Amino acid sequence: MRLLLVLITLLLSSLSTLAQSGKVDMDYYLPTDVTYNPNIPTPESVLGYTPGEWHVSHDKLSEYMRTLAAASDRMTIESRGTTFEGRPILLLTVTSPSNHSNIENIRKEHVKLVEDGSASLSTSNMPIVVYQGMSIHGNEPSGANAGLIAAYYLAAAQGPKIDALLDNTIILFDPSFNPDGLQRFAYWANTNKSININADPQDREYDEVWPGGRTNHYWFDMNRDWLPVQLPESRARIKTFHNWYPNILTDHHEMGSNSSFFFQPGIQSRTHPLTPALNQELTKQIGNYHAAALDKIGSFYYTEESFDDFYYGKGSTFPDINGGIGILFEQGSSRGHAQETENGLLEFPFTIRNQFTAILSTLEAAQGMRKQLLDYQRDFFKNARGEKGSGAYAFGSEKDAGSAYHLAEVLKRHQIKVHEVAQDFSQDGANFKKGMSYIVPKNQRQSRLIKAMFEKRTTFQDSLFYDISAWSFPLSFGVDFTENASLSKAGNEIQDLKRKPAPAVGTSTYAYLMEWHDYYTPKALNTILNKGIRAKVGMQKFSVEGISYDYGTIMIPVQNQSLNKQELASFINEVAQDANVTIKAVSTGLTEGIDLGSNQFRALEPARVAMIVGEGINPYDAGEMWHLFDTRYNMRITKIDTKDLGRADLSRYTDIILPNLWGNAINKGNTDKIKQWVRSGGTLIGYKNVANWFERNKMLDIDFVKTKNPAKNVSFEQRRDFTGAQVIGGAIFEAKQDRSHPINFGYTGDKVSLFRNTTLFIKADSTSYKNPIQYTKSPLQAGYISKINLKAIPETRPFVHQSTGRGEVILFTDNTNFRAFWYGTNKLLMNAIFFGSEM
Ligand SMILES: [Zn+2]
Repeated sequence: MRLLLVLITLLLSSLSTLAQSGKVDMDYYLPTDVTYNPNIPTPESVLGYTPGEWHVSHDKLSEYMRTLAAASDRMTIESRGTTFEGRPILLLTVTSPSNHSNIENIRKEHVKLVEDGSASLSTSNMPIVVYQGMSIHGNEPSGANAGLIAAYYLAAAQGPKIDALLDNTIILFDPSFNPDGLQRFAYWANTNKSININADPQDREYDEVWPGGRTNHYWFDMNRDWLPVQLPESRARIKTFHNWYPNILTDHHEMGSNSSFFFQPGIQSRTHPLTPALNQELTKQIGNYHAAALDKIGSFYYTEESFDDFYYGKGSTFPDINGGIGILFEQGSSRGHAQETENGLLEFPFTIRNQFTAILSTLEAAQGMRKQLLDYQRDFFKNARGEKGSGAYAFGSEKDAGSAYHLAEVLKRHQIKVHEVAQDFSQDGANFKKGMSYIVPKNQRQSRLIKAMFEKRTTFQDSLFYDISAWSFPLSFGVDFTENASLSKAGNEIQDLKRKPAPAVGTSTYAYLMEWHDYYTPKALNTILNKGIRAKVGMQKFSVEGISYDYGTIMIPVQNQSLNKQELASFINEVAQDANVTIKAVSTGLTEGIDLGSNQFRALEPARVAMIVGEGINPYDAGEMWHLFDTRYNMRITKIDTKDLGRADLSRYTDIILPNLWGNAINKGNTDKIKQWVRSGGTLIGYKNVANWFERNKMLDIDFVKTKNPAKNVSFEQRRDFTGAQVIGGAIFEAKQDRSHPINFGYTGDKVSLFRNTTLFIKADSTSYKNPIQYTKSPLQAGYISKINLKAIPETRPFVHQSTGRGEVILFTDNTNFRAFWYGTNKLLMNAIFFGSEM
């Protein structure tokens, strides 16, 4: 045993020696004016190296945090769920042992601050709550690696200063906001590390393989999901957030290697108008603590010149509409172990030390401003109650229970009170039906957040946005909405939101019918077709047995199937229950309108879908579709890498999706191959910039609207703002729909709200029925668009379809799947997949 220990020690020390310039000592990071409890395991004792020498994988990070929590009475650890790759979503709660023994009472007292009746609470001795989150972008690793040192410090440091800190603070320490991304990046940086650390920026170590470690498993930017809350990591975080209502929430990032260190506030003119002015002043005051701490270690930094607090879906902005203060940190990235930069050699340990310094300066600010921040939080909610509107919002859908349910689900995740509809009612031209609609009272704690989620803003102080400028949820979910509902329409408040099960399907001797309106009908159809069951789509409306059926109704005949009558009946019922959709058994083919035997019912084939991914493809756009098919519709989608396209057998697929393209990702040979596949019957679906590729390769006949923007009286200093103002970072536009066209099957109204973040405008075709989706005359619904672009977009078309040989080419200029919360337009992609050959 002794010999083994000696061997291990020898091995470890030789590794450290091998690391040469990568070797680092804990003294480099830790304050030296305090002593450390020797019973607390150091990071090295668990990891086998000192942080900074290697990039910590999430597995090892978890191991250390668990070891630490087991050894320290200042810490507890919990797993709040798992990521898509099965990694634990950990949270450490750090405070004094005496606070720990009373933690639930402290929590309850704290959250009373946000409730009615908070005026009587004394904040004089109340602990402050700080939520510190690391590396939400997995390839911005200095945060998570600094977390190792911070957690050690919080567990091991001795003396009156740390005791006071722990007595006065509840620290919710989230060691990795994005476990799957961190793991992916650590693998890349470590496997490419040389013994002789090579700081040449052109080394492979600094150029990750596609899609990189920034995103989560399905290639989502996790730092955009705080508001939509569609991903498991965000759900865990939001739960913690509402459980505690932190006063400060920090978000530790990295930026370009030539930059120094940034801390908020960001650009003031780009703060969301619903955020109180005092929020930014307090952010600035907190910033003084960061500045002092960074001055002390001689590190350079800047503030207020970039980044912003506009989109509430970011971690550093979300708290601002929830009574807290969000702080963004950005460290110039070494992206691997060391890189040459304009500022000299930038080493990984240096980036870790800056983040560690900011972690501590945040806690120091929390001490210094404790009462001020607690009172601010109380006032935030008190003032919000004061501006309460009367009445309620209502939303719902007469035919699509799925989408309405999922919007209610998002609201519930944000602790927003949602009620059932007591009785059917109509308002502002829409029908709100019991069981399909929901009521949200305006007068409730989260009134400001609700406003931020529901509003349709079109005027702005600034014309530049770090991210999207609009995210109105009723539009993204495509539901009917009114902000003028009376509270008298509200039924019971929904405590436990559940979907009503689908009605049982009877046994038919003739056929089954499924209208195409519910969000989950593609899931049902896919299961049916994959089972080898024949199904058809109705091209026209009809009614049978007293019920009317809309365009795009799916018909499953009973005769000539691989299952007998009884088997088919039970299979169809299973499908209906599983997808939660309504399917009806009918006993006759004679209808008003097209009969069930009509040629206007077109046979459908199982969709075998591939998507081109890899170098040259935007991973966000691709990941959103992968996630959509895989997690919502249980549909397989084959991801073909651009580098493997040459040898891929495309004849296996009925549909190929080409997400937003960068540069010349697809060479001439592969272009010809794809064209040939289309001519022999494939459906090719392209998004956004693929429009240019389609046009260049003569696959679509499209005519772009050209805009002119001459720079007049624009100074050199203003040039970036000038060009930036022409960008559509993300806004919402209204288009009218021809519901008889298969691309629009399943929609009930004649308008759809589209999310767009491109400036590609395509002229309408002179043949009107070739413009089944066309922007209205004044299409802007929410968000920022420049005057020039606003003039260009009316009556252009975001959708183009053309038949080529036996196949189809389809283009969407807009993103129908944006960030997994644009439920309202997912159906458009599914229509292209299932009905592409009927267009
Ligand atoms: Zn980042």
